[in-house]
Amino acid sequence: MTQKIRVLMINTGGTIISADQGGGLRPSEKGKAALKQLIERESSQWMEWDLITLMMKDSSLMLPEDWKCLAQEIFYNYDDYDAFLVFHGTDTMAYTASALSFALRGLRKPVVLTGAMKSILEKDSDAPSNVKDSLTFIRAALDQHLEGVYVVFNRKAILGVRATKKDSKGLDAFDSVNYPVVASMSDSGVKINVSPARVVGSFELRAEFEENVAVLKAFPGMRPWVIDAVVNAGAKGLVVEAYGTGGLSEDLARKLGEVVKDRNVPVVVTTQPLYGGVDLMEYEVGRALIKAGAISACDMSKEAAVVKLMWVLKRAKSVDDVRAEFATSYEDEVDPSKCKDQAKEQG
Ligand code: ASP
Repeated sequence: MTQKIRVLMINTGGTIISADQGGGLRPSEKGKAALKQLIERESSQWMEWDLITLMMKDSSLMLPEDWKCLAQEIFYNYDDYDAFLVFHGTDTMAYTASALSFALRGLRKPVVLTGAMKSILEKDSDAPSNVKDSLTFIRAALDQHLEGVYVVFNRKAILGVRATKKDSKGLDAFDSVNYPVVASMSDSGVKINVSPARVVGSFELRAEFEENVAVLKAFPGMRPWVIDAVVNAGAKGLVVEAYGTGGLSEDLARKLGEVVKDRNVPVVVTTQPLYGGVDLMEYEVGRALIKAGAISACDMSKEAAVVKLMWVLKRAKSVDDVRAEFATSYEDEVDPSKCKDQAKEQG
């Protein structure tokens, strides 16, 4: 008999185990018990598993210290398991997936996050299908040496750093941003479409994240004092959601230039549309941001850009350190070959 795969399952909460006991949906003991029963039904001859409950949170309540706690749980149990399956609320799942991707350097095993849009206690819940697909994907990933962090949802496996929540109600709640869906699950099996390019050195935990950052979404008429206000309040880095391929009004671009040059605060530019990413070279307004010293997030997801900034700020000593980190791909979160605007900034 071949050896069984060992999977550590970590429950953190979310709709998947939620029930409404009068005050609105929240993670529940009843949901937790139902999840355990579901796993018992799904676990077959090929798997041994343990299930631990790390927290019982709606994922809106998740903080960087929870990312750290989760990363530590995986890190300290690493040698005892072949794979890890995390049950998580969908609302901030993409942020946690990015955080785990960056925190677990040199990860050589699959880590899957899943959840559900409808509680496991509801008749038409998507929990059974998402849990089943997660296990199927883990098996295929171990077979095909697909390592790293993934979100498995609605028959898809999405690279963790490329996942985004796109729908607050529908079951097809996640998408892959500027990157192919890594695998598709169907009744006939798993189809793997791409093998992510990851930097895998020695296994280490780097789970510190700087919380003093701000994300500013531009809108026509936004006043530059907003930028001053967050920097004066202590922001050590900014992510600015610009328009299109990366444009902002002249007064905002000028203010960002001051912040970078006079205050040494790195400014990362992402964009409001979901797909396509940033190309600051394309328009004059984008080039003004390059001149201002802004850093292009290129084709990264917004979630990965924010979490990466939080992560690199714990080590970076200067704006140029942050710039160099954003031009480096650790988990296939960015395609540097597509980032002509980053090359320009560097050069
Ligand atoms: N509010 C829930 C959460 O993120 C939503 C979900 O899990 O679908 O925990």
